[in-house]
Amino acid sequence: MSRTAFYWDEKCFWHAGNNYAQLAPVRKLVQPMVAGGLPEAPETKRRLKNLMDVTGLSTEIDMLNGAAATTADLTRVHPESYLQKFKALSDELGGELGLRTPFGPGGYDIAALSAGLCKHAVIDVLTAQHTNAYALSRPPGHHCLPDWPNGFCLLNNIAIAIEAAKALSLFNRIAVVDWDVHHGNGTEHIFYDRNDVLTISIHQERCYPQDTGATDARGNGDGAGYNVNIPLSPGCGHNSYLYAMDNLIIPTLDSYNPDLVIVACGFDASGYDPLSRMMCSVETFRLMTRKLMQLTDNKLVVVHEGGYSEMYVPFCGHAVVEELSGSRTTAGDPMQARINGQQPNSRVDAFHQSLIDEMVDKFLSAV
Ligand code: ZN
Repeated sequence: MSRTAFYWDEKCFWHAGNNYAQLAPVRKLVQPMVAGGLPEAPETKRRLKNLMDVTGLSTEIDMLNGAAATTADLTRVHPESYLQKFKALSDELGGELGLRTPFGPGGYDIAALSAGLCKHAVIDVLTAQHTNAYALSRPPGHHCLPDWPNGFCLLNNIAIAIEAAKALSLFNRIAVVDWDVHHGNGTEHIFYDRNDVLTISIHQERCYPQDTGATDARGNGDGAGYNVNIPLSPGCGHNSYLYAMDNLIIPTLDSYNPDLVIVACGFDASGYDPLSRMMCSVETFRLMTRKLMQLTDNKLVVVHEGGYSEMYVPFCGHAVVEELSGSRTTAGDPMQARINGQQPNSRVDAFHQSLIDEMVDKFLSAV
């Protein structure tokens, strides 16, 4: 048995608004022809899985499917009224209930499947079936509030997984590290009043949502001090992300001492992403993964969120799975020289890092 589980499902690539196969409505057996036009299209994630097949990495780890999250799983996070509306539209021709969250026929079932992959990954690692796991979940989840889907997210996959694990009494404390370039507003909202789930989000400030993700959102009640936002200026690259990881994220996790760390793993902080203005590279994601694994004795669950470069996301994801599995099978980084040449200079890095230092002072005195 490999130490790494990789949860994926072909049907997660079929999620889309207006998804028809020519004139045939998509149900269970027909793949849609067109993705529906949103940036959140299947290709980034499909190409990651394809790249792993081409290099052979997928033969070195346990490639697994998982059952969809059950209604009981979903209702621990989302109100029945929302789920009923979602399912009713999904059982017909699809629709849209929030902000930029179109879905086609069967979209409810695919979203429940995406949440199920995440749930299996979390429970798998908490029960020591595997040391670590990657969930190729689609649609993504970190923006979704209990009753308001937004930002391409229809169900909060990670929250559903955490609550399923909690129902089984599998942990005392869990930490979520969200390095998607957008603020993890949904996950923050769901756990804002709780201290058994520490939520950390490092993101481009005011990218999306534009009115959340500030440093003063620290949690409420029992959750006071257990939400950490690290908003970074546009243009931050490899050095600033690693600086934040070393000086703020790792020390915060160290003092919280969670039973499990879950990464809300978007690759949209890359230098090639169309939706953001950051400068991270394959190496950034590789080293952030390595640093978290060093902290947790290799135990980590990585859940795929955003990332919109069809060319670059597969290489970033491949590097993360390489780190998780300890494999020497690498896809490299075809853009390494180009992206390294565009990194901020040391003066700009020093400016960004001084802003991170201010957050270090603010947060580490409180946690
Ligand atoms: Zn994102």
